[in-house]
Amino acid sequence: MTETIPQSRTAEAGDAPEPGATSAGLLVLAPLRFEAKAVRRGLREPASRVQRTGMGATRASKALRLAGADPRTPEKAGEESKLGPFGAMVVMGTAGGVAADLKPGDLVVATEVSDGTTTVALPGADLLAAELCRAGLPARAGKIATVPKIIKSAERAELAAQGYLAVDMETSALLGAANGRPVAVIRAVSDSGFGPGMVTGGIAALRSLRRAAPVAELWAAACAERTVLLAGPRSFCAGVERAIEIVERALELRGAPVYVRKQIVHNTRVVADLEQRGAVFVDELDEVPDGATVVFSAHGVSPAVRDTASDRGLSVIDATCPLVSKVHAEARRFAREGYTVALIGHAGHEEVEGTLGEAPDSTVLVQTAADVAALSPRDPSKVAYLMQTTLAVDEAADVAGALRERFPQMRAPGSDDICYATTNRQAAVHAVAADADLVLVAGSKNSSNSVRLVERSERAGTPAYLIDGASDIELSWLSGVSVVGLTAGASAPPAVVSEIITALSGLGTVTVTERVTTTESVQFGLPREVRR
Ligand code: SF4
Repeated sequence: MTETIPQSRTAEAGDAPEPGATSAGLLVLAPLRFEAKAVRRGLREPASRVQRTGMGATRASKALRLAGADPRTPEKAGEESKLGPFGAMVVMGTAGGVAADLKPGDLVVATEVSDGTTTVALPGADLLAAELCRAGLPARAGKIATVPKIIKSAERAELAAQGYLAVDMETSALLGAANGRPVAVIRAVSDSGFGPGMVTGGIAALRSLRRAAPVAELWAAACAERTVLLAGPRSFCAGVERAIEIVERALELRGAPVYVRKQIVHNTRVVADLEQRGAVFVDELDEVPDGATVVFSAHGVSPAVRDTASDRGLSVIDATCPLVSKVHAEARRFAREGYTVALIGHAGHEEVEGTLGEAPDSTVLVQTAADVAALSPRDPSKVAYLMQTTLAVDEAADVAGALRERFPQMRAPGSDDICYATTNRQAAVHAVAADADLVLVAGSKNSSNSVRLVERSERAGTPAYLIDGASDIELSWLSGVSVVGLTAGASAPPAVVSEIITALSGLGTVTVTERVTTTESVQFGLPREVRR
């Protein structure tokens, strides 16, 4: 049997965002006196309390029964718990480490707890573990087993083989006391079976518990019922899906390794996943062996890179997004016709470098209105402008406006250079930012379109954070926040969005409402090299 507490739900018609039910204080359950004492010494908030439960599942269950806090005791249902009011609960104590690389003092935050019969999943463990790490503590998230008695090394090895990190004798019996409230488990390894003895290990564990206590309070302060406003569209665009599929098919058809010049798309998860499957990411072509297959990333390359690949006899598969290729073609056309091309974009971005390389003698990068003022074209009546595909729509329009003011005859691209995916995601985040206390944007730091989503939200007056995954969420951001806007850049996988919602549901019930501003149906064909 597997339980998950708490859960997320999808909003139903008529649901209004509910105010955040903020924590009414933290209750820590600690089995032993010295564990309770260590935690008490670390706590800072007056509303936080520690309750001792006694060692072993039987004593712990009895303690909860006596406190009227064991929901499995029917006669106590409805009676007020003697544990008093609390908003969130954390089980804190020492544990035996079963994973070989754990040492005394290491903290394990339970992703699930099993007593062999019942398994309780605890979403959001990654979030708490990451916060402990940020506080300088050695913490990780993983499975904890509750066992009826002290176990020997063979049993530890068996649990390790099943993926458990640590073992204790009480947690499984204590979780029910949360009775629907957010609950977390922090166990400090005192005895790994591989390290120093009980005494030194125990001291290290108690020190870690004391230092973890304020982080548990931070976690409790972040616990609340929330609404997640999901922006739509979000996540992968057609160009990113195509680029990833090109690498996947190249690996399938040609076998590993397949070299990829630069990150195929700007996302650490995508890159790590493809790396695991045999893709080798390089910065420049001189890192690619002669005769090997190399994929050009979605951001495109300059003709100089294509020439080098050709000279080297490399087998090239081009994953440049067709919408980037369109901008390259426009740069060549304007240059051919004698125009000076003002390329509105960000210096150093791979896409900009590729576009600049199409007509280096005719193209000038302009990033701001000040750059426009400094522009000195060969013939002021022959100026054209182009844009990087992933710019902020409103900011790029400002720069284009400054150009038009200075060069009234300026030519524009045949159609918008800022692509549909960038435009749609910016409009969608704007729509959720207006009603959110905070916006989370899934995406990597080097992803231009993801960074623009953060900026767009901030310009709407809502603080926003760029996160690669749930563990980047800092608990302090969530304190007092009842409506979270959530989106993902065009290069961020949809799974990250689900992961973030699951993590937030570990802090209290989450109601998910999707706000769709437009739907997308764009698809791009694959290059012939990877067509089946
Ligand atoms: S963001 Fe736009 S230009 Fe970039 S890959 Fe996606 S569709 Fe292509």
